[in-house]
Formats: sequence, C-alpha cells, structure tokens
Amino acid sequence: MVDCIFCRIVDGDLPSRTVYEDDSALAFLDANPLAPGHTLVVPKAHHERLDDLPDDLAADLLAVLYDLVPAVERAVDADAITVGFNDGAAAGQEVPHVHGHVVPRFEGDGGGPIHAAMGRRPDLSEEKLDDIAAAIGERG
Ligand code: 5GP
Ligand code: ZN
Repeated sequence: MVDCIFCRIVDGDLPSRTVYEDDSALAFLDANPLAPGHTLVVPKAHHERLDDLPDDLAADLLAVLYDLVPAVERAVDADAITVGFNDGAAAGQEVPHVHGHVVPRFEGDGGGPIHAAMGRRPDLSEEKLDDIAAAIGERG
C-alpha cells in the first residue's frame, strides 16, 4: 500500500475542493495554484507515470480533461488554458500519482508557453532527427 497524497484525497482521507468525480477519475483544485482555477485531474487508481496507466484509464483521463478545460476557462473568465503533465521526477513531477494540470491563462500573465519550461534548445542534425523519429515510430 503506497502512502500517496492524491490517493488519500481520492479516498476522502484528505480534504479537497472537488470539481468533478466519476468512477475512474477525480478533479480538484490545486492547493498551491499557479492561477485562480488551477485544477488537477487524477485517475482514482494509483499509477505513477502516464506509461503505467491502463488504456481505459488513460482514455477516461483525457475525456475528463477535454470536458474540464472549457469549464475551468469559463469559471474564472480566463483567456486560455495551459494543459500539462510533469511525467517523471526529472520533468518536475513531485507527487508520484499521475495528474494533469489545467492552468488558466490570462492575457499578459507573463507565464509564457510550455516551451519556457526548457532552457537551451539542442542543436540536432538532420540525421539525428531522422534517427529519433525512427526510434519513436518503432516503439509507438
Ligand atoms: P507536480 O509538480 O507533481 O506536477 O504537481 C503537484 C501539484 O500538486 C502541485 O501543483 C501542488 O500544489 C499540488 N498539491 C500538492 N499537495 C496537494 C494537496 O494535498 N492537495 C491539493 N489539492 N494539491 C496538492
Ligand atoms: Zn496515489
């Protein structure tokens, strides 16, 4: 049995401001929001990484995200939404239970695009790009 903050929220042992719930997914407000309305969407079952999710749970999670994005945007009168997953510790995942972030964005909020999460861009040759595309394709 893993000791996990989000499992405790799913089980009702920790309070949360729940905004959506069904059999397989739960969505609630982030406790330390990046913007008003910052919402997290989690599978109820404990899985650490996206690749650990069974197909049906992954599909359910995307469906919930798809519904929540416009709902969150309207609720806080935002101009746009950034959707993101920190998938793995090296990407900044702090809670090891899959969660999608729905972050409302406002004109002039200074937040930048997802591209801002990276520092220097790699200088990749055409050959290297071909190799990477082939490697991804083989494993897709
Ligand atoms: P990560 O860095 O793992 O992608 O994001 C984890 C998120 O969970 C953070 O944005 C953080 O504010 C949020 N969070 C951490 N603990 C709690 C909690 O107990 N309740 C809620 N609602 N959010 C939490
Ligand atoms: Zn968990």
